Amino acid sequence: MALRVFNTLTRRKEDFTPREPARVGMYVCGPTVYNYIHVGNARTYLSFDVIYRYLKYGGHDVVYVRNITDVEDKIINKAKEEGVEPAEIAERFTRAFHEDAKGLGLAKPTVEPKATEHIREMISIIKRLIEKDLAYAVDGDVYFEVTKFPGYGKLANRTLEDMRAGERVDVDPRKRHPMDFALWKSSKPGEPHWDSPWGTGRPGWHIECSAMSEKYLGMGFDIHGGGQDLIFPHHENEIAQSEGASAGGSFVKYWLHGGMVNIGEEKMAKSLGNVILVRDLLAEHGKDVLRLLALSTHYRSPIDFGPDKIKEATAAYDRVVNAVRRIERRLDSTTASSFGENPQAVNALSSASRRAREEFGAAMDDDFNTAAALASIFELVKEINMFLEGHDAALSMEARDALEDARGVLFELTGALGLEIKLPEEEDVEDLLPEAVYTLAAEVLKADVVGASKRELIDQVLALREVARSKKDWVTADFIRKGLVDMGIEIEDTPAGPEWRIRGK
Ligand code: AMP
Ligand code: ZN
Repeated sequence: MALRVFNTLTRRKEDFTPREPARVGMYVCGPTVYNYIHVGNARTYLSFDVIYRYLKYGGHDVVYVRNITDVEDKIINKAKEEGVEPAEIAERFTRAFHEDAKGLGLAKPTVEPKATEHIREMISIIKRLIEKDLAYAVDGDVYFEVTKFPGYGKLANRTLEDMRAGERVDVDPRKRHPMDFALWKSSKPGEPHWDSPWGTGRPGWHIECSAMSEKYLGMGFDIHGGGQDLIFPHHENEIAQSEGASAGGSFVKYWLHGGMVNIGEEKMAKSLGNVILVRDLLAEHGKDVLRLLALSTHYRSPIDFGPDKIKEATAAYDRVVNAVRRIERRLDSTTASSFGENPQAVNALSSASRRAREEFGAAMDDDFNTAAALASIFELVKEINMFLEGHDAALSMEARDALEDARGVLFELTGALGLEIKLPEEEDVEDLLPEAVYTLAAEVLKADVVGASKRELIDQVLALREVARSKKDWVTADFIRKGLVDMGIEIEDTPAGPEWRIRGK
């Protein structure tokens, strides 16, 4: 199946056919740098990170542009509040954004242009718009005249009449139509400013993205993304500016918009004061749990954020890590054998790996359905667990191959989503285990345990507990369990046998 994407402009799923098959151009609106990013922002960036990764996984060469809005009213206001220069605020929060982006494991875009470094390009588009009589200057400000652009409203699917319904009374009398928007704003003393044909001033927000996308992707590119809250007016205005200033043709072929993260009934937003910062969540739960949380819902659907979501994502992540850990332990701890093999089980595992890859591709090709893609990964995890449960110690070469292959597919598919499967290093585990393991092992195994590996001793002690349980010797079984739990080792009885780990690791 070929990739299909839901296009906000046409309001339906379409086959994805880039203008140039060898080079996909993608632009995503980046942050306005006046504060730390919150979980809502992170979700949007993660969605497009996965889209970017999947396009590359599918063999496309992608030019990915994500800008930094470093001149804007909010930055100026924040600078005034703190009594510092706007540039200082912009620099501080650009740095913070880069830290958070790295923390989230976002792939670096091909280009990350800053608005303040593209003022010349913005002025040039505004000049073209004035020449074409689509914009007008008044007292040092320049406005786009929406009634002169016939397609205005096509992205948001609203007419100018609809828009006027929500109009406020205090419309600027200098505007020819209440929906006309600023391309250039004259600056007040102390504000960032640049020279222009209309006096000193600064650009409006919307023109930034028209200028930077044109510079790096050319007029007319494949994908433009952002959260659904940007459809109107930001992206509607970008279309009016870019198509208005050009000789013809459409600005963007596929408009992709991500759903909002809500808290209760409300959108998570700085202005509503209900934000949870990415850096706080990363410190507590790590990037993979956050990524899994975001990907468990289709990128266009809303997410109602809450602690239960984090719990579910943590459990889901642990399921994948544990499957890989189980495979590795099984591969480590047994020598090859051709006895006692069940070829049917090996075949079933091999076809499960194949199926997981196919279903993953089909899900992602269906407008990046990450929730279904994850389901294909968890189906494979289930098959791996079933296989291990049905196999005792010795593995044939075929069984080893099938397990290694399943592990490879797990790494490949999770990797395509930007998830990292992190197993604690075995040496670290050895160091972290308490010396008390020796005492317990010596007592239970009634053997000399000096110099043995603590990890192996725990495996042996647990194997003995299984024997005790099979003989209904609950005293010994409980003694072993309690001894381990008291020293901070958690035991999980799985269908494939007991698993253990150091608490909190
Ligand atoms: P901003 O810095 O507010 O321009 O937002 C940066 C990006 O985050 C934009 O693509 C927004 O659409 C997106 N965004 C803002 N709030 C949310 C939210 N609550 N849920 C999802 N995305 C959001
Ligand atoms: Zn933008």
